[in-house]
Amino acid sequence: MATKPLTDSINATHDAALRSWLASANADSTDFPIQNLPFGRFRPAGSAEAFRIGVAIGDQALDLKAVGLIATSDMNELMAISAGARQKLRGAISEGLREGSPKQAEWQGALLAQSAIEMAVPCRIGDYTDFYTGIHHATTVGKLFRPDEPLLPNYKWVPIGYHGRASSIGVSGQAFHRPLGQTKGPNESVPSLRPSHRLDYELELGIFMGAGNALGESVGLDQAASHAFGMVLLNDWSARDVQAWEYQPLGPFLAKNFASTVSPWMVTMEALAPFRTPFTRAEGDPQPLPYLDSPGNRAQGGFDVKLEVWLQTQAMRDAGQGPQRLSQSNFRDAYWTVAQMITHHTVNGCNLQPGDLLGSGTQSGSHPEQAGSLLELSSGGKKPLSLANGETRTFLEDGDSVTLRAHCVQDGFRRIGFGDCQGQVLPART
Ligand code: MN
Repeated sequence: MATKPLTDSINATHDAALRSWLASANADSTDFPIQNLPFGRFRPAGSAEAFRIGVAIGDQALDLKAVGLIATSDMNELMAISAGARQKLRGAISEGLREGSPKQAEWQGALLAQSAIEMAVPCRIGDYTDFYTGIHHATTVGKLFRPDEPLLPNYKWVPIGYHGRASSIGVSGQAFHRPLGQTKGPNESVPSLRPSHRLDYELELGIFMGAGNALGESVGLDQAASHAFGMVLLNDWSARDVQAWEYQPLGPFLAKNFASTVSPWMVTMEALAPFRTPFTRAEGDPQPLPYLDSPGNRAQGGFDVKLEVWLQTQAMRDAGQGPQRLSQSNFRDAYWTVAQMITHHTVNGCNLQPGDLLGSGTQSGSHPEQAGSLLELSSGGKKPLSLANGETRTFLEDGDSVTLRAHCVQDGFRRIGFGDCQGQVLPART
């Protein structure tokens, strides 16, 4: 039997030679060339208007309803359409934005500068599940929490996850107060309630679901990726001192649900098609159970997405200095694929719905300096990081701003990026 492709394959919308009549979309440095076309919700900055659905193109946002390509203002409704309909919509947007398109005069009036708009969380997030697919993160963090048994025996069999909280997810630009929580130091006999002093970020990708599955039905591995709509960056802010005290036996709770930040533009599965990679298992590791294994997933289940974390402290801001990069990693190193996460999530009949968010788990590379959290970079707070301006960090300080970035490159294809996912820590409420 022929292998079904996990998503629609490469087509004319991916052609590296495509150029837009919008000059900023042709700049080498843009995250949003005509080959990307990510979806988000925007409105004029400072206005009280309803959010509109648009795609990012160069330094502008195109209002899709204004140009007559969609009839809805409800992103979740749009995300529920079939993969085929999505492909058609992408084709129409691409054609209209191409150099020489007869739509240029009409569509120019439906553009708003990204510098003049504000973004919402991309859709209504019904449910949020955070996975744990970064094996280097899981191993390093496991060592800190359980030196004798860093990687629990289920890790290489089960795509581990927990149900998170959707209500506190915000969009890039989010600022939040340092959370209070119950913590107990190693030399304290009883816990107390206080501001977290081990506040951390987590470098993750978020996968937004498109078409869902009915309750009681599961999604097979080769259909799974077509149920995803697109990906964003996700910062799963974490209070490590709260986490250490509360996490057993039921997993993360208040250490994780005070704030999470996503980037505003959903990079679609179609745009990511050129950046798929083979899924492999290290020699000696167990092979996935049959429901999590297929030739298609092995051939192209992974995604080559380069990830970065940047930190700007209050002192850097005061001195007019830009952020400093702390680490780099790649989603291609994840232990489980997007398709495996979706199939596993639904194997018991759990229904995923349009707009649900799946976190990838912290994506750390195999080298210590590629870690996607401060917990790892500072060896559990024991080795402070030295910053270029002379400051040090073990965990986040008040005023710190963290920006996640991602982009994809592949020979023969145009580079695409995700835009920024930025958030800032404010002092605890007193
Ligand atoms: Mn996480």
